[in-house]
Amino acid sequence: MPELPEVECLTRAVRLVLEGGRLETAEFLRADLRSPIPIAQFRQLFEGQLIEQVFRRSKYMLIRSAKGTGVFHLGMTGQILEKDSAKPDVPHTHAVFKVQGRGGRTYLHFVDPRRFGRIDCFEGHAVEGNAYFEHLGPEPLDCADLGEHLFRQSRHKKAAVKQFIMDAQQVVGVGNIYASESLFRAGIHPERKAGAVSRQRYGKLGEQIKLTLEAAITAGGTTLRDFRTPDGLPGYFAVSLNVYDRAGEPCLRCGGEIRQIRQGGRSSFFCAFCQT
Ligand SMILES: [Zn+2]
Repeated sequence: MPELPEVECLTRAVRLVLEGGRLETAEFLRADLRSPIPIAQFRQLFEGQLIEQVFRRSKYMLIRSAKGTGVFHLGMTGQILEKDSAKPDVPHTHAVFKVQGRGGRTYLHFVDPRRFGRIDCFEGHAVEGNAYFEHLGPEPLDCADLGEHLFRQSRHKKAAVKQFIMDAQQVVGVGNIYASESLFRAGIHPERKAGAVSRQRYGKLGEQIKLTLEAAITAGGTTLRDFRTPDGLPGYFAVSLNVYDRAGEPCLRCGGEIRQIRQGGRSSFFCAFCQT
Protein backbone atom coordinates (compact mmCIF):
# COMPACT_ATOMS: atom_id res chain seq x y z
CA MET A 1 0.00 0.00 0.00
CA PRO A 2 1.46 3.39 -0.91
CA GLU A 3 2.61 5.29 2.15
CA LEU A 4 3.43 8.96 2.71
CA PRO A 5 6.80 8.87 0.88
CA GLU A 6 5.28 7.23 -2.21
CA VAL A 7 2.41 9.72 -2.29
CA GLU A 8 4.83 12.62 -1.79
CA CYS A 9 6.97 11.45 -4.73
CA LEU A 10 3.88 10.95 -6.88
CA THR A 11 2.66 14.44 -5.95
CA ARG A 12 6.01 16.01 -6.85
CA ALA A 13 6.04 14.17 -10.16
CA VAL A 14 2.46 15.19 -11.03
CA ARG A 15 3.29 18.76 -9.98
CA LEU A 16 6.02 18.94 -12.63
CA VAL A 17 3.50 18.03 -15.32
CA LEU A 18 0.27 19.64 -14.15
CA GLU A 19 0.94 22.65 -11.93
CA GLY A 20 0.71 25.87 -13.92
CA GLY A 21 -0.84 23.92 -16.81
CA ARG A 22 -4.40 23.46 -17.99
CA LEU A 23 -6.50 20.35 -17.45
CA GLU A 24 -8.26 20.25 -20.79
CA THR A 25 -10.53 17.22 -20.36
CA ALA A 26 -11.26 14.57 -17.74
CA GLU A 27 -12.56 11.31 -19.13
CA PHE A 28 -13.84 8.61 -16.76
CA LEU A 29 -14.11 4.99 -17.84
CA ARG A 30 -16.19 3.97 -14.84
CA ALA A 31 -18.41 5.80 -12.38
CA ASP A 32 -16.95 4.50 -9.15
CA LEU A 33 -13.81 3.32 -7.41
CA ARG A 34 -14.02 2.75 -3.66
CA SER A 35 -16.77 5.36 -3.74
CA PRO A 36 -18.71 7.01 -6.59
CA ILE A 37 -16.72 9.53 -8.64
CA PRO A 38 -18.56 12.89 -8.82
CA ILE A 39 -17.92 13.06 -12.55
CA ALA A 40 -20.12 16.04 -13.46
CA GLN A 41 -18.80 18.13 -10.59
CA PHE A 42 -15.19 17.18 -11.31
CA ARG A 43 -15.57 18.32 -14.91
CA GLN A 44 -17.29 21.52 -13.88
CA LEU A 45 -14.50 22.38 -11.40
CA PHE A 46 -11.52 21.38 -13.53
CA GLU A 47 -12.13 21.06 -17.27
CA GLY A 48 -10.51 23.95 -19.13
CA GLN A 49 -9.11 25.28 -15.86
CA LEU A 50 -5.64 26.34 -14.89
CA ILE A 51 -4.29 24.00 -12.19
CA GLU A 52 -2.84 26.42 -9.68
CA GLN A 53 -1.43 23.92 -7.23
CA VAL A 54 -0.67 20.22 -6.81
CA PHE A 55 0.02 19.26 -3.21
CA ARG A 56 -0.23 16.46 -0.65
CA ARG A 57 -2.06 16.14 2.66
CA SER A 58 -1.55 12.85 4.50
CA LYS A 59 -1.86 10.13 1.84
CA TYR A 60 -4.01 12.22 -0.50
CA MET A 61 -2.79 14.08 -3.56
CA LEU A 62 -4.78 17.27 -4.13
CA ILE A 63 -5.12 19.60 -7.10
CA ARG A 64 -6.51 23.10 -7.00
CA SER A 65 -8.19 25.24 -9.64
CA ALA A 66 -9.81 28.67 -9.13
CA LYS A 67 -13.11 26.82 -8.60
CA GLY A 68 -12.29 23.85 -6.39
CA THR A 69 -10.11 21.09 -5.01
CA GLY A 70 -9.63 17.60 -6.45
CA VAL A 71 -8.81 14.69 -4.14
CA PHE A 72 -6.94 11.55 -5.26
CA HIS A 73 -6.22 8.51 -3.09
CA LEU A 74 -4.28 5.53 -4.41
CA GLY A 75 -5.86 2.94 -2.12
CA MET A 76 -3.90 -0.33 -2.29
CA THR A 77 -2.87 -0.44 -5.95
CA GLY A 78 -3.58 3.00 -7.45
CA GLN A 79 -1.14 4.65 -9.81
CA ILE A 80 -0.94 7.72 -12.02
CA LEU A 81 0.98 7.17 -15.23
CA GLU A 82 2.05 9.71 -17.81
CA LYS A 83 1.30 8.69 -21.40
CA ASP A 84 1.60 10.13 -24.90
CA SER A 85 -1.97 9.26 -25.82
CA ALA A 86 -5.51 9.29 -24.38
CA LYS A 87 -5.95 5.64 -25.32
CA PRO A 88 -5.72 3.36 -22.27
CA ASP A 89 -2.91 0.85 -22.82
CA VAL A 90 -2.86 -0.94 -19.48
CA PRO A 91 -5.75 -2.84 -17.88
CA HIS A 92 -7.71 -1.14 -15.08
CA THR A 93 -7.29 2.39 -16.44
CA HIS A 94 -10.25 4.25 -14.91
CA ALA A 95 -9.65 7.90 -15.78
CA VAL A 96 -7.68 9.83 -18.40
CA PHE A 97 -6.77 13.48 -18.00
CA LYS A 98 -5.68 15.50 -21.03
CA VAL A 99 -3.22 18.14 -19.92
CA GLN A 100 -1.74 21.15 -21.65
CA GLY A 101 1.25 21.47 -19.38
CA ARG A 102 4.21 23.81 -19.46
CA GLY A 103 6.11 21.10 -21.29
CA GLY A 104 3.36 20.60 -23.91
CA ARG A 105 0.44 18.21 -24.34
CA THR A 106 0.44 15.07 -22.20
CA TYR A 107 -1.97 12.57 -20.63
CA LEU A 108 -2.30 11.34 -17.07
CA HIS A 109 -3.87 7.91 -16.66
CA PHE A 110 -5.34 6.84 -13.30
CA VAL A 111 -4.87 3.07 -13.01
CA ASP A 112 -6.09 0.97 -10.06
CA PRO A 113 -6.52 -2.83 -10.39
CA ARG A 114 -8.14 -3.37 -6.97
CA ARG A 115 -10.16 -0.12 -7.00
CA PHE A 116 -9.65 0.85 -3.37
CA GLY A 117 -8.54 4.28 -4.58
CA ARG A 118 -10.69 7.38 -4.76
CA ILE A 119 -11.22 10.36 -7.03
CA ASP A 120 -13.30 13.05 -5.39
CA CYS A 121 -13.62 16.84 -5.39
CA PHE A 122 -15.23 19.73 -3.61
CA GLU A 123 -15.95 23.36 -4.31
CA GLY A 124 -13.54 25.92 -2.89
CA HIS A 125 -10.24 25.43 -1.12
CA ALA A 126 -11.06 24.74 2.54
CA VAL A 127 -9.01 21.55 2.87
CA GLU A 128 -8.72 21.42 6.65
CA GLY A 129 -12.49 21.77 7.13
CA ASN A 130 -13.23 18.94 4.68
CA ALA A 131 -14.43 15.59 6.01
CA TYR A 132 -11.37 13.79 4.58
CA PHE A 133 -8.94 15.95 6.51
CA GLU A 134 -10.60 17.48 9.57
CA HIS A 135 -9.47 14.84 12.07
CA LEU A 136 -5.89 14.54 10.87
CA GLY A 137 -2.85 15.45 12.92
CA PRO A 138 -0.01 17.55 11.50
CA GLU A 139 2.32 16.61 8.67
CA PRO A 140 5.49 15.13 10.21
CA LEU A 141 7.81 16.86 7.75
CA ASP A 142 6.17 20.28 8.27
CA CYS A 143 6.12 20.01 12.05
CA ALA A 144 8.87 22.34 13.34
CA ASP A 145 9.32 20.34 16.57
CA LEU A 146 7.74 16.94 16.01
CA GLY A 147 9.23 15.50 19.22
CA GLU A 148 7.69 18.23 21.37
CA HIS A 149 4.33 17.80 19.61
CA LEU A 150 4.36 14.04 20.28
CA PHE A 151 5.47 14.52 23.86
CA ARG A 152 2.59 16.93 24.60
CA GLN A 153 -0.03 14.82 22.83
CA SER A 154 1.07 11.65 24.61
CA ARG A 155 0.76 12.70 28.23
CA HIS A 156 -1.47 10.28 30.17
CA LYS A 157 -1.86 8.08 27.07
CA LYS A 158 -1.72 4.35 27.89
CA ALA A 159 -1.48 3.13 24.29
CA ALA A 160 1.83 1.62 23.19
CA VAL A 161 4.16 4.22 21.70
CA LYS A 162 4.19 2.44 18.33
CA GLN A 163 0.41 2.57 18.02
CA PHE A 164 0.44 6.16 19.23
CA ILE A 165 2.81 7.37 16.48
CA MET A 166 0.83 5.41 13.86
CA ASP A 167 -2.41 7.17 14.89
CA ALA A 168 -3.20 9.70 12.13
CA GLN A 169 -4.97 11.93 14.64
CA GLN A 170 -1.63 12.48 16.39
CA VAL A 171 0.58 12.75 13.30
CA VAL A 172 -0.10 11.55 9.77
CA GLY A 173 1.96 9.29 7.55
CA VAL A 174 3.91 7.13 10.00
CA GLY A 175 3.14 3.71 8.51
CA ASN A 176 4.09 0.35 9.99
CA ILE A 177 7.56 0.10 8.43
CA TYR A 178 8.46 3.69 9.26
CA ALA A 179 7.22 3.32 12.85
CA SER A 180 9.33 0.19 13.48
CA GLU A 181 12.43 1.75 11.94
CA SER A 182 12.09 5.10 13.73
CA LEU A 183 11.62 3.40 17.11
CA PHE A 184 14.73 1.28 16.54
CA ARG A 185 16.80 4.30 15.56
CA ALA A 186 15.54 6.20 18.62
CA GLY A 187 16.18 3.18 20.91
CA ILE A 188 12.57 3.03 22.15
CA HIS A 189 10.76 -0.28 22.77
CA PRO A 190 7.56 -0.40 20.67
CA GLU A 191 5.45 -1.64 23.61
CA ARG A 192 6.44 1.17 25.99
CA LYS A 193 3.41 3.24 27.01
CA ALA A 194 3.22 6.47 24.99
CA GLY A 195 2.66 8.48 28.17
CA ALA A 196 5.81 7.04 29.78
CA VAL A 197 8.30 8.20 27.12
CA SER A 198 10.31 11.26 28.16
CA ARG A 199 10.45 14.59 26.33
CA GLN A 200 14.10 13.95 25.46
CA ARG A 201 13.35 10.55 23.94
CA TYR A 202 10.42 11.97 21.94
CA GLY A 203 12.87 14.57 20.66
CA LYS A 204 15.04 11.81 19.27
CA LEU A 205 12.04 9.87 17.96
CA GLY A 206 10.64 12.94 16.15
CA GLU A 207 13.99 13.45 14.47
CA GLN A 208 14.21 9.80 13.41
CA ILE A 209 10.65 9.77 12.02
CA LYS A 210 11.56 12.72 9.79
CA LEU A 211 14.89 11.22 8.72
CA THR A 212 13.29 7.85 7.90
CA LEU A 213 10.52 9.43 5.81
CA GLU A 214 12.96 11.80 4.08
CA ALA A 215 15.28 8.90 3.21
CA ALA A 216 12.35 7.06 1.61
CA ILE A 217 11.31 10.17 -0.35
CA THR A 218 14.89 10.62 -1.57
CA ALA A 219 14.97 6.97 -2.67
CA GLY A 220 11.79 7.45 -4.71
CA GLY A 221 11.54 8.47 -8.32
CA THR A 222 11.29 12.09 -9.36
CA THR A 223 9.28 11.79 -12.58
CA LEU A 224 6.05 9.99 -13.37
CA ARG A 225 7.79 7.77 -15.83
CA ASP A 226 10.07 6.24 -13.22
CA PHE A 227 7.63 6.27 -10.33
CA ARG A 228 6.72 2.62 -10.23
CA THR A 229 8.14 -0.75 -9.33
CA PRO A 230 9.31 -3.06 -12.14
CA ASP A 231 5.88 -4.74 -12.23
CA GLY A 232 4.23 -1.37 -12.74
CA LEU A 233 2.66 -1.23 -9.30
CA PRO A 234 3.41 1.21 -6.50
CA GLY A 235 5.60 -0.27 -3.80
CA TYR A 236 7.78 0.62 -0.88
CA PHE A 237 10.89 2.46 -1.84
CA ALA A 238 14.15 0.70 -1.22
CA VAL A 239 15.23 2.18 2.07
CA SER A 240 17.73 0.22 4.11
CA LEU A 241 15.79 -1.43 6.91
CA ASN A 242 17.36 -2.13 10.31
CA VAL A 243 14.59 -4.18 11.88
CA TYR A 244 11.50 -4.39 9.65
CA ASP A 245 10.95 -7.93 8.31
CA ARG A 246 14.21 -9.14 9.90
CA ALA A 247 12.79 -11.41 12.64
CA GLY A 248 15.40 -13.92 13.85
CA GLU A 249 18.27 -12.08 12.15
CA PRO A 250 21.03 -10.34 14.11
CA CYS A 251 20.61 -6.70 15.15
CA LEU A 252 22.91 -4.56 13.01
CA ARG A 253 23.95 -2.60 16.10
CA CYS A 254 24.45 -5.21 18.86
CA GLY A 255 24.17 -8.62 17.18
CA GLY A 256 21.18 -9.64 19.34
CA GLU A 257 18.20 -11.32 17.71
CA ILE A 258 15.51 -9.15 16.10
CA ARG A 259 12.13 -10.07 17.55
CA GLN A 260 8.66 -9.90 16.02
CA ILE A 261 5.43 -9.26 17.94
CA ARG A 262 1.85 -8.33 17.00
CA GLN A 263 0.50 -4.94 18.02
CA GLY A 264 -2.99 -3.83 16.98
CA GLY A 265 -3.04 -6.52 14.29
CA ARG A 266 0.25 -5.34 12.77
CA SER A 267 3.73 -6.82 13.02
CA SER A 268 6.35 -4.96 15.02
CA PHE A 269 10.05 -5.70 14.76
CA PHE A 270 12.58 -4.63 17.39
CA CYS A 271 15.78 -5.41 19.24
CA ALA A 272 15.13 -6.06 22.93
CA PHE A 273 18.70 -5.01 23.82
CA CYS A 274 18.85 -1.73 21.87
CA GLN A 275 15.26 -0.66 22.53
CA THR A 276 14.07 -0.07 26.08
ZN1 LIG B 1 20.41 -4.43 19.11
